[in-house]
Amino acid sequence: MALVVQKYGGTSVGSIERIKAVAKKVISYKKKGYDVVVVLSAMSGQTNYLTSLAKQTNKNPKKRELDMLLSTGEQVTIALLAMAIDDLGYSAISLTGKQANILTDNSHSKARIIKIDNTTIKNHILQGKIVIIAGFQGCDKKGEITTLGRGGSDTSAVAIAASLQASECQIYTDVDGVYTADPRVVKNATKLSVITFEEMLELASLGSKVLQSRSVEFAGKYKVPLRVLSSFEEGQGTLITTEEQQTMEQPLITGIASSKDEAQLTVQGVPDQPGIASKILKPISDADIEVDMIVQSVGEKNTTDFTFTVRTDDYENAKNIISKTAKEIKAHKVYGQNNIVKVSIVGVGMRSHAGIASRAFSALAKEGINILVISTSEIKISVIIEQKYNELAQRTLHNTFELDKTKKQ
Ligand code: ADP
Ligand code: ASP
Ligand code: MG
Repeated sequence: MALVVQKYGGTSVGSIERIKAVAKKVISYKKKGYDVVVVLSAMSGQTNYLTSLAKQTNKNPKKRELDMLLSTGEQVTIALLAMAIDDLGYSAISLTGKQANILTDNSHSKARIIKIDNTTIKNHILQGKIVIIAGFQGCDKKGEITTLGRGGSDTSAVAIAASLQASECQIYTDVDGVYTADPRVVKNATKLSVITFEEMLELASLGSKVLQSRSVEFAGKYKVPLRVLSSFEEGQGTLITTEEQQTMEQPLITGIASSKDEAQLTVQGVPDQPGIASKILKPISDADIEVDMIVQSVGEKNTTDFTFTVRTDDYENAKNIISKTAKEIKAHKVYGQNNIVKVSIVGVGMRSHAGIASRAFSALAKEGINILVISTSEIKISVIIEQKYNELAQRTLHNTFELDKTKKQ
């Protein structure tokens, strides 16, 4: 029998009413003859609320205890959905990540799934039950509860779908698919009916939170057919697919993403000698801080200026580390800012077209938006700008590349 994995996000299970609506939707698939495995998020706002409780109790809580706390949000919704399904006369069972045997590494708060032993899940399916699994959580080999990073239920769903070789992994959310930009920011954004894994991965890792980037990575690697749909209205949503399967002509630009999770640090007046970049960056990576963009520019009198970006959570720590290094290497000054955003344009069509970058930069310049850092790859162009220009930049780029006219594929 065909099996589908359905994941419902926070808004979709945000109240008892909505949980009852999810129960009906799940049952409708069961009635069509599918085996259904459901993966749930916590009620919307719950994970933030639990995080704030932790911060009020201890400014720097241990990550193990944070995971213990945050994982409770998903346990509430899975139990309630099992009750709602039961109430409608169908058989369901809820399982925590540990009960579903989702084995992860031990990096609390950003754990990676290593393996899923699906025996328990399969046994319940064989008994005709709808299996409901807590998203966002797993456990390490010592049995410690771990979480997979914000938005991690998407990754739980795809990993479970891969393990069960589901015919589709459906991500039900509060928008009816993937758009050319965040539809809450760019009102005339267009819904895409298909998008390649490659482009979706780029958009997700550059900040489109409609899918957690690791879930797309997983889906691409294990060839899981992935679809984003609305939990509130009927429709086909957006299918994430391989490039070969896309038949329509590729548009130049597929979409725009934005990320507020950016902070910039600059070391000014660094003596220009071989090995200086590694002297600056090694202590940062030793502290497990991820560096994103790096720019080295020519300064005055045999010195250079070195700029890089990190996540906002790592900003203070990185600034302290870099200030120490600056003294050691006799650099002039360190400065930084975390009121910046990264806005990116993404499209595989860029590979075969020149001049996209200059079009993007001149459109931003016309709006008086100053670009602080640029980085490019074959299929994306990212700029760091001041946070106050975030929405304007997204709309400007959307208009410049006429994404409102993107053909519905
Ligand atoms: P869930 O709680 O269901 O996981 P999220 O809030 O994590 O939902 O993700 C859905 C949100 O992603 C949408 O409400 C939308 O504002 C945002 N979003 C950002 N970029 C896009 C995009 N390109 N297409 C669709 N939604 C996007
Ligand atoms: N509840 C978690 C979060 O808010 C996981 C998820 O929703 O995917 O990040
Ligand atoms: Mg999400």
